[in-house]
Amino acid sequence: MARVLILGGTAEARALATALAGLPGVRPISSLAGRVAAPALPVGEVRIGGFGGAAGLTRWLATERIAAVVDATHPFAATISWSAAEAALATAIPILALRRPGWSQRPDDDWRRQPSVAAAAAALNSLPEWVFLTIGRTELAPFAGLDRHWFLIRSIEAPQPPLPARHEVLLARGPFSVRSEIELMRAHRIEVLVTKDSGGPLTEAKLVAARELRMPVLLVERPPVPDVPAVATVEQARDWVAALVGPPA
Ligand code: NAP
Repeated sequence: MARVLILGGTAEARALATALAGLPGVRPISSLAGRVAAPALPVGEVRIGGFGGAAGLTRWLATERIAAVVDATHPFAATISWSAAEAALATAIPILALRRPGWSQRPDDDWRRQPSVAAAAAALNSLPEWVFLTIGRTELAPFAGLDRHWFLIRSIEAPQPPLPARHEVLLARGPFSVRSEIELMRAHRIEVLVTKDSGGPLTEAKLVAARELRMPVLLVERPPVPDVPAVATVEQARDWVAALVGPPA
């Protein structure tokens, strides 16, 4: 059996685990960082926790006799992607990145792309007061000093301090519908959306809602990722593994 490491933490990684479990001769093992207390678990074998950087992952790949790696992590999880690329190179194990495309802007969208979370916080200076902040729970510090604004902070688990003085926390996990996003934004008198260019259908509704409500969006751009072969869909990733492993003997 060829053991294929899926670096996960995304819906695509879970779908890929299911797809690979159905391939003859392939045994997927999914890896999660362990950030979320009750993660959505993929089918098959799962390991949880960091590897100890690129060096730790290099050792782990060799010890566990991994045949291939698919980096299906979130587009903003760049550290693990760089570690995976380095470890794959060091061990000569084939690697593929499964990267969902970013969201596409329409002519009636008012998107203002930001190079970082800190830049998005600074850009709020010239924008209205009521802000919907959906950038996850760990990078909120740049907003902590913004006293003129009120924030609706949505995350899956409790946000990590420091938090802005005026805020409300909403714990929720997608997918969300356009209708519920519009209702949420209206109920909180939201005037600005701050989010990351995560891409994918599960959390896109907030952008459609912002378009319908003619609201400016501060969209944090993706960090740079290593130059490894990449595909955009679970099916393409499954086909890559199938071609690599070949028909069972
Ligand atoms: P990150 O900054 O790239 O990773 C930080 C460290 O966490 C890595 O150096 C690695 O530790 C460990 N790690 C990350 N992903 C791992 C995985 N799949 N398996 C084992 N260890 C992992 O990542 P992050 O932004 O903190 O994201 C952590 C996880 O949450 C990722 O798996 C990602 O897919 C998921 N996620 C992230 C976001 C986001 O916005 N960043 C959103 C949704 C889901 P070692 O160096 O010790 O190996």
